[in-house]
Amino acid sequence: MIALVTGGSRGIGRGIVLSLARAGYDVVVNYAGNVDAAKEVAAEVEALGRRALIVQADVSVAADRERLLAESYAAFGRLDLLVSNAGVAPTVRADILEADEESFDRVLGINLKGPYFLIQSAANRMIAQPEGETRPKIVIISSNSAYTASVNRGDYCVSKAGLGMVTQLFAARLAEHGINVYEIRPGIIATDMTGAVTAKYDDLIFNRGIQPIRRWGRPDDVARAVVAVATDLLPHSTGEVINVDGGFHLKTL
Ligand code: NAP
Repeated sequence: MIALVTGGSRGIGRGIVLSLARAGYDVVVNYAGNVDAAKEVAAEVEALGRRALIVQADVSVAADRERLLAESYAAFGRLDLLVSNAGVAPTVRADILEADEESFDRVLGINLKGPYFLIQSAANRMIAQPEGETRPKIVIISSNSAYTASVNRGDYCVSKAGLGMVTQLFAARLAEHGINVYEIRPGIIATDMTGAVTAKYDDLIFNRGIQPIRRWGRPDDVARAVVAVATDLLPHSTGEVINVDGGFHLKTL
């Protein structure tokens, strides 16, 4: 079985790639700029006895998305799983009374528009491909920012809230083709993305009890949820939100 993981070279995506390889998938590892990280994870996949293809492509660029899918199908002939994981935080955290359009366009292009049209293209190819062992699946990595207002990164929050609707739309549209769509909402996960704000999140997790499970999330926590989908453990669920957040989403009194 074949999976494509966008942003599969580092952080959560890397964890997903390795877990999928352990679960028996050959994997297309997409990355944006850091080829060394992509090569490393590909070597790890091959060490696990699976095939890996690395493809540089910026998911916000239409021609790159088409090339990514074309190279994936040229190498493997099909896709059984698309994990739309690539995403960025704003370069500068700026108050929403000041944040500029340039940041909005960049973040929305990579985090929302790119995934929307990548999923559209991938879904059309999945519908057209021959039947496989199982029906193809799509997993969207959004965030607890889909419903949590952070006023110093509004563009990021808007992009993740949008992914919630992308999940519902494609789940509703693709069910007739037997393609289930899932949204995974990570909470605070230790990766390069959160590396710059480690002290802030340490304080929130360990001193302020922002989430009932008092530890940082790990890429492997998210990867396990993806593997549950990938190994067909949720066949009668689609449009489902899976929180991987240490219970952050719970309201308590
Ligand atoms: P990360 O460590 O910064 O890794 C980002 C990955 O995405 C890298 O492989 C990067 O490739 C790739 N990427 C960046 N821009 C891209 C583009 N335009 N096109 C294709 N690939 C691109 O991030 P992460 O923390 O693992 O986050 C992964 C996903 O989880 C994101 O969607 C993020 O919003 C979401 N998330 C993260 C957290 C968290 O706490 N970390 C929480 C909730 C949700 P290069 O190495 O080539 O740049």
